[in-house]
Amino acid sequence: MAESTEQIMRTIDLRGTTLTRAELLEAMPRAEMGTFEATDLVRPILDDVKERGAAALRDYGEKFDGVRPHYLRVPKEELERSLEQLDPKVRAAIEESVRRSRAVAATQVPKPFYTDLADGARVSERWIPVERVGLYVPGGKAVYPSSVIMNAVPAQAAGVESLAIATPPSKSNNDGLPDRTILATCAILGVDEVYAVGGAQAVAMFAYGARGSEPQDGEILCEPVDKITGPGNIFVATAKSLVSGIVGIDAVAGPTEIGIIADSTANPGWLAADLIGQAEHDELAGSVLITDDTDLAQQVLDELAVRVPRTKHADRVATSLSGKQSAIIITDDLQQSIAVANAYAAEHLEIQTEDPDAVIPQIRNAGAIFRGGYSPVPLGDYMSGSNHVLPTGGTARFAAALGVHTFMKPVEVIEYDATGLGAIADRINNFAVSEDLPAHGESVLTRFVDDPYDKDTL
Ligand code: NAD
Repeated sequence: MAESTEQIMRTIDLRGTTLTRAELLEAMPRAEMGTFEATDLVRPILDDVKERGAAALRDYGEKFDGVRPHYLRVPKEELERSLEQLDPKVRAAIEESVRRSRAVAATQVPKPFYTDLADGARVSERWIPVERVGLYVPGGKAVYPSSVIMNAVPAQAAGVESLAIATPPSKSNNDGLPDRTILATCAILGVDEVYAVGGAQAVAMFAYGARGSEPQDGEILCEPVDKITGPGNIFVATAKSLVSGIVGIDAVAGPTEIGIIADSTANPGWLAADLIGQAEHDELAGSVLITDDTDLAQQVLDELAVRVPRTKHADRVATSLSGKQSAIIITDDLQQSIAVANAYAAEHLEIQTEDPDAVIPQIRNAGAIFRGGYSPVPLGDYMSGSNHVLPTGGTARFAAALGVHTFMKPVEVIEYDATGLGAIADRINNFAVSEDLPAHGESVLTRFVDDPYDKDTL
């Protein structure tokens, strides 16, 4: 396996190699999460919010967001005012995104089912919405109204009764209110429980609830939730992993990433634009191009050399593309490209090949698949109707995108009658005895004997 690093992105040449599964996984470019170091910082924040509630939330707003929020819970009038002030062009974009997301979410709602196993023996499954959910919407370096949509729409489609949103207070707004576009999006979606609280302290507020100084000292500011969802930085991710178990969480999200499988038919300018678009998120964002065509790889590098210096966030993009989490991986052929893509398990996987439909059935691991040249990742970030909260860091090997199912729980209902249970009572008893749990067997047999105290009939 050869590696070259002089370019804007390093290349990893896998041609002619036969790697074991472990070696292939090891060769994948990845950012480091660093949640262990953040744990020492985050745990005291969680404990402090649990102990001091609203007072701690205000202190951390001042310390980490540079503003002491006047309102921890955003007044409804401010949500409405934000909507009135919203640029009509942005409002139209948000409404289009909501419309498409709602259409997909409506078809995603899982259906109940039942199985009849024998006479009087049925197992059915009901899907029950989580009762109360806390949605985290990031707002530190950039603001993400799109994340409000991606979290709230599936929760609403699932039938979640109580939805709260937390997002950092903003220095540029009077009274430390959060970003106005985020507030307007909440108003469009009909979410009126919104907190000007960010970071680990928001996660603590959701997990433990918080007493507050609003409306009066000691009264409940925020009730605890059952599940916390939404992306965020290292402090948010670490806090979520620490409260997991007390409440449910969707995932511990790492830096965002793109994988692209491309062959000689792909457009190098489009590939470069997609890699740059991903790198724009974050210095730690991963951009990985997988191709069996060395000419295409060179053309993409040439395009990057021209385009990176011209992009608005050129420094951030250059840092991200040259980081160890980004690379151009050269393969022998399309089959090896597919094997690499499955090992990388990209959060977003673009397929820009001659026949993407021949590739898609062979993809086992990806957060979301973007098929062909006209389905770029930013379409999914904002408006495809799909969800943009996706598994990162290789977790797409076992995890899925946020969706309606994230906000529901399947519960099996066991419905046997005397005929159904009687037909297998002896077998259950034999099983129970084999596990040395005879009372289990007796619990079943006692329903079918005249004298439940007669050991001989049991
Ligand atoms: P954020 O809201 O996640 O974090 C801001 C908060 O971090 C602040 O409110 C503050 O409380 C806390 N913080 C900052 N410095 C701290 C410190 N030294 N100690 C303790 N806490 C501190 O916003 P962000 O920082 O912009 O990060 C957003 C992240 O979410 C990015 O990594 C972005 O890529 C990711 N994101 C992912 C998706 C997705 O769908 N996967 C979508 C949008 C954003």
